[in-house]
Amino acid sequence: MTQTPDTNLQIRLANRPKGLPQESDFQSVEEPIPQPGDGQVLVRNRYLSLDPAMRGWMNEARSYVPPIGIGEAMRGLTVGEVVESRLPGFAPGDLVSGIFGCVALGPLGMTGLTAYFGLLEVGQLKANETVLVSGAAGAVGSIVGQIAKIKGCRAVGIAGTDDKCRWLTEDLGFEAIINYKTAKDLHEEIRRTCPKGIDVYFDNVGGEILDTALRSLAMHARVVICGAISQYNATEPPKGPANYLALLVQRARMEGFLVMDFQARYSEAQTELGGWLAEGKLHYREDVVEGLENAPRALLRLFDGSNTGKLMVRI
Ligand code: NAP
Repeated sequence: MTQTPDTNLQIRLANRPKGLPQESDFQSVEEPIPQPGDGQVLVRNRYLSLDPAMRGWMNEARSYVPPIGIGEAMRGLTVGEVVESRLPGFAPGDLVSGIFGCVALGPLGMTGLTAYFGLLEVGQLKANETVLVSGAAGAVGSIVGQIAKIKGCRAVGIAGTDDKCRWLTEDLGFEAIINYKTAKDLHEEIRRTCPKGIDVYFDNVGGEILDTALRSLAMHARVVICGAISQYNATEPPKGPANYLALLVQRARMEGFLVMDFQARYSEAQTELGGWLAEGKLHYREDVVEGLENAPRALLRLFDGSNTGKLMVRI
């Protein structure tokens, strides 16, 4: 569907997906652009962030935000430009962002902040430790490994293609990467690459990879539950980790978090992340898809692993 300049293209949720979302689970609708009322602004969205969490929001289930209703526009984090304002403090031309309040989608945006607070606050990282991160070539994971390096730690990643593994070791400085799709024995690979055990396991994927990582925890390890992308399209209730008693044996801790928990400290993190970017210590990739109408198909790339770095749509 092509969008005329005076209409508003919306991608709405048409059905609750079973398993992987299908294009038929979405509906494209064009509507006249609404006029902002008192206390409102009209924003032209420029970029839409595609996030694994969007899959969870499509389910009718109790979570940290209400589910998207059938027929409602898909919820997403966007960066846009104010075109009309009836709200003091906002003027046409201002760049704004929805949901998280920071005008960025990359390392200074939501995923960079997730990596920062997850690793440093929830993971309580200390110098010389070994960090294992799954989903290592993704938006969050690639920043986690680099922060670990900046803090004087060993970074070991788990990713799904040899190209991603090369990028992480050759360009981003990870000490080792395991390709979980080709590894014959993931446990043996983790033991080989983390010979002193894992001090912080930063988990983006859940499932069997989490369960296997638990077997190699070091004493007083921290397991950071950031996400569980391997479970988001599951049609059966997921199995819990069988190896959880490793937490007892190793006196370890497993803790989940939401980046919003740290909202009051975003600017502190952005200052430090921005400094590392300016010094050339932090690198990132953006994977940009053209056109809002392509968002439903592009979202699936998060689940087949064909994105590298932050996936977003230019609107
Ligand atoms: P991303 O890592 O850029 O993209 C997802 C990646 O996950 C894919 O490229 C794919 O890479 C991997 N993957 C997909 N299916 C998999 C499976 N079955 N098993 C193992 N790996 C799989 O996504 P992101 O935006 O950075 O998000 C990463 C995680 O952080 C997600 O779980 C997300 O929900 C979570 N998150 C949490 C918070 C929070 O506040 N707690 C905030 C943001 C994101 P491979 O090629 O390696 O398979």
